Amino acid sequence: MKLTVVGSGDAFGSGGRLQSCYHLEAQGRELLLDCGATAIIGMQRLGLDPDRVSTIAISHLHGDHFAGLVWFLLHAHYVTRRTVPLRIVGPATIEERFAAAAEALFPQSTRIDRRFEMTFDTHVEGVGREIDGFRITPFEVSHPSGAPPYALRVEAGGKVLAFSGDTKWVDTLLKAAAGADLYISECYGYDAEAGHHMAWRDIAQNLDRLGARKVMLTHMGGGMLSHVGRVSDPRVVFAEDGLRLDV
Ligand SMILES: [Zn+2]
Ligand SMILES: [Zn+2]
Repeated sequence: MKLTVVGSGDAFGSGGRLQSCYHLEAQGRELLLDCGATAIIGMQRLGLDPDRVSTIAISHLHGDHFAGLVWFLLHAHYVTRRTVPLRIVGPATIEERFAAAAEALFPQSTRIDRRFEMTFDTHVEGVGREIDGFRITPFEVSHPSGAPPYALRVEAGGKVLAFSGDTKWVDTLLKAAAGADLYISECYGYDAEAGHHMAWRDIAQNLDRLGARKVMLTHMGGGMLSHVGRVSDPRVVFAEDGLRLDV
């Protein structure tokens, strides 16, 4: 499985980073994990073709994680004239939240005469779903966003990649990350209480319990970005927009 970090930023653009979006490729299939508002910009920068993405899995319904679906739709319709189906899987009410965002930003955009099928599915806690070569299993975490938020475990090509989404520390993350080849963890803060997010201190305390081979820190706020030099655990790597990694 190949990972390309399209966007590794938080909701505030800290460090000039784009919003949450991870591109995965396995056995010729391509998937996006999260689709923040800047996803199409990031894909254009990196030469990734949105038409090759058959599935988009959304962790939770905050704009920096799902709003890019609006631009994904417009790009597919007006620029590439997409014909291949697109499957989107996310928290309950994702279809309504997407439609509300699309209509607020581009009135009538949900009524355009699409040439491709766009379907929405809803995560079911702990139940793996096979979509076009990827097995996606959601685990509920804690991060108020109008619908249940999830960490996502993605299996493909014999590899396991887990993603925390946004959340404060909850033990459910252990289930999502168990034995993962790569666990991508949000790490908004460094050592201070980070509200509905995690700080490095929360992750450091749980690194052994997580049992992932490698941990990638992402969604870093300004406080964390200025402290990355203080993290020296050999299991830990830092996300950066454009970073490519063989999982
Ligand atoms: Zn976020
Ligand atoms: Zn969030």
